[in-house]
Amino acid sequence: MNAKIDTLSQEEIKVILRAADEIIAQGGRTLLAKILKGSREKKVLQLELDTCPVYGYYKSEKLDEVVAKIDWMIEYDFLTIEYSGKLPMIVFTERGWQIESDQMADELLQEWMEWVKQGEQSPDMTYLKDRNREMILLLLEKVKESGNKMFIPYLRLWEKIEYKKVKKAIRSTIKALENNVPIDNQLVQNRTESIDEALKGAAPQDLRLKCWECGERFMFTIGEQLFFKQKGFEYPKRCGKCRDNRKPVFF
Ligand SMILES: [Zn+2]
Repeated sequence: MNAKIDTLSQEEIKVILRAADEIIAQGGRTLLAKILKGSREKKVLQLELDTCPVYGYYKSEKLDEVVAKIDWMIEYDFLTIEYSGKLPMIVFTERGWQIESDQMADELLQEWMEWVKQGEQSPDMTYLKDRNREMILLLLEKVKESGNKMFIPYLRLWEKIEYKKVKKAIRSTIKALENNVPIDNQLVQNRTESIDEALKGAAPQDLRLKCWECGERFMFTIGEQLFFKQKGFEYPKRCGKCRDNRKPVFF
């Protein structure tokens, strides 16, 4: 029934993470697949998901093939599922978020470069307020590393509308640009290496878990792991035998 995916390229991993960013904790696997498929469905258009830069990336593929790629992303620990009430929502794993926050910071920086090219003087900076703090600090890091003084006016506009903690980081970025503070190459290299490592993903393997009740080891297979992740379940704490023994208590 389902298409099986052997592997995804680094580009595809990044594309799927970028699309997931649009609906994180607000939509499930199917909605994510519809963005990538370029669906014209009402919900997709209402949420303006067609403006996502990777909308329609997989337009020539079937929807269930795209869903299979998303399941691969879940199996390899880039994305996972959390329940909001009864609804299964896509969320980033730590690995997935590390990659996505870096590429989102790059995307925002790219946009600033476009502004400089077009001579944009007073962009509305409110779009950066209330974004993920970690990603915003990474953006400031990259702005600093760019050494581009043309960004200073944007930083000043941005500083005006920000909260205290980010304000402080913006001010120190302005100072670093004004004083031509040299780039910390080691820091940049460590970040690049760490992202390359994250992009490899964690290949799923059968796990030997220890039962909380009887202490015996039991096998938790790849297939079971995917099922549990899709359902948003915690990994089982008890072996099959102990689970069966408990059932009469509940039913
Ligand atoms: Zn047991």
